[in-house]
Amino acid sequence: MTEYWVSQGNKWCDFCKIYISNNPGSIRNHELGQRHKDNVSKRLAAMRKENIAKEKEQKETARAIEQIEAKAQRSYQKDKVKFEETRESHELDDQEWEFDSSTGYYYHKTNGFYYDQKSGFYYSDAIGKWVTQEEAYASPHFTSNAGHNGTNCKEILVNITVQIR
Ligand SMILES: [Zn+2]
Repeated sequence: MTEYWVSQGNKWCDFCKIYISNNPGSIRNHELGQRHKDNVSKRLAAMRKENIAKEKEQKETARAIEQIEAKAQRSYQKDKVKFEETRESHELDDQEWEFDSSTGYYYHKTNGFYYDQKSGFYYSDAIGKWVTQEEAYASPHFTSNAGHNGTNCKEILVNITVQIR
């Protein structure tokens, strides 16, 4: 902040918004004057107030960022748990799959589905055509025969949790 600058032989006092004669005596005289002192303390008080407001704003911003981060962390944990649950149930399912060397496909022991590792497609006589994993998993033949309806899945997950503990 420039409090003073010289202009045409005068000095500008930014606190008082006036020109003072540019000589040591008049400057010293002005600076010792009550009006200048009042203006300086007013300016300092205003600056302090501004700083407090800024600090408050910064604290609020920091708190908001923390909340956003905590929320993101929570939803990440949730997704992770969901992902692990899904993976566990698929791992269990994996045990049912057996590689059939005569066809080159994986064969599911309980629901009779074939799985082609190369294309990622599934085949079942019940469906009568090759379908995507999504369609195969959605198929009632896939789940009912494999014993993977909702209740069983939950029970299996509970058992896993117990075993881990
Ligand atoms: Zn002044």
